Amino acid sequence: MVDSVFFKIINYEIVCIIYISLQMSNNNVKVAVITGSSRGIGKAIAKEFAKNGYSVVLNSRDEQDLNRAAQDIAKEIGDNNVISYVPGDVSQEHVCKSLVEEAVKRFGRLDVLVNNAGISGVSKKINELSTNDWDYVIDVNLKGAFLCTREALKHMIQNSDTSTNTKNNYSIVNISSVHESIPQPDAAPYAASKGGMEMLTKNTAMEVSDKGIRVNGIAPGAIATDMNKDLLEDEQKKKEEEQRILLKRIGQPQEIAKVALFLASDNASYITGTTVYVDGGLTLTS
Ligand code: NAD
Repeated sequence: MVDSVFFKIINYEIVCIIYISLQMSNNNVKVAVITGSSRGIGKAIAKEFAKNGYSVVLNSRDEQDLNRAAQDIAKEIGDNNVISYVPGDVSQEHVCKSLVEEAVKRFGRLDVLVNNAGISGVSKKINELSTNDWDYVIDVNLKGAFLCTREALKHMIQNSDTSTNTKNNYSIVNISSVHESIPQPDAAPYAASKGGMEMLTKNTAMEVSDKGIRVNGIAPGAIATDMNKDLLEDEQKKKEEEQRILLKRIGQPQEIAKVALFLASDNASYITGTTVYVDGGLTLTS
């Protein structure tokens, strides 16, 4: 009788230990929020992070597209327990709040934010732009990155442990553009939003360096995504663009994703406040 009670207690303790260990090992999995990740560069980044052991929270405005992207990624990595998503426009404060909440509620933590959501806007001369044309692009590309950065930082700062030697715990990666430094004809809001993003990267890096948070940007050149659909479908224009690029080809989304993964990882532990140009040398010839 005493023996069976004793074994019940022991069994209960073993179950508790296994449960706690599983919880702890789950909590050791790093978590990344990637905005604008239903397709293109954002989706490639989400896939790259998931393949490399992260849990990921996807985002874009269209829920159906997001669901499809989540299923694609889950299928490729063979695990749908590490993917979640929050539909919504990143220029809305509540969407950025929900992204951080989802990471914490579903996966218990948030380690990395990738501000990727972006639009190119209408092609017009400055004197022809309406105020709405301007606001639309700035709101998504720049204000959206600010809002998500602010919400992510609230969580990161609150949880940052700078008492140990492992200081670089958190990372923010801003997907900017070569147009943060090269003007783009008939696309002033886009170029201005990306120029702003360069300073958002630097300023944020400066303000949070003592909290173990690194902040960097990536400036892609011409990448094969829907954003460049017109260019990719016009053989002549595509050839001309390729001639301007030192490596003589348009880049692939995965080539941006690998750099994002690197910047977020401990391999980049001494890099903060900078923008990496991933443009096949385009900037040198522009
Ligand atoms: P894309 O149009 O293929 O994908 C953009 C993604 O962002 C989509 O998932 C879209 O649904 C999402 N999105 C758009 N507006 C949003 C909003 N308000 N809220 C949430 N999600 C939103 O574009 P892409 O080429 O993959 O571009 C990704 C990022 O890379 C952008 O910031 C873009 O400026 C930058 N970039 C792209 C290129 C390129 O050549 N493709 C070059 C330089 C920089």
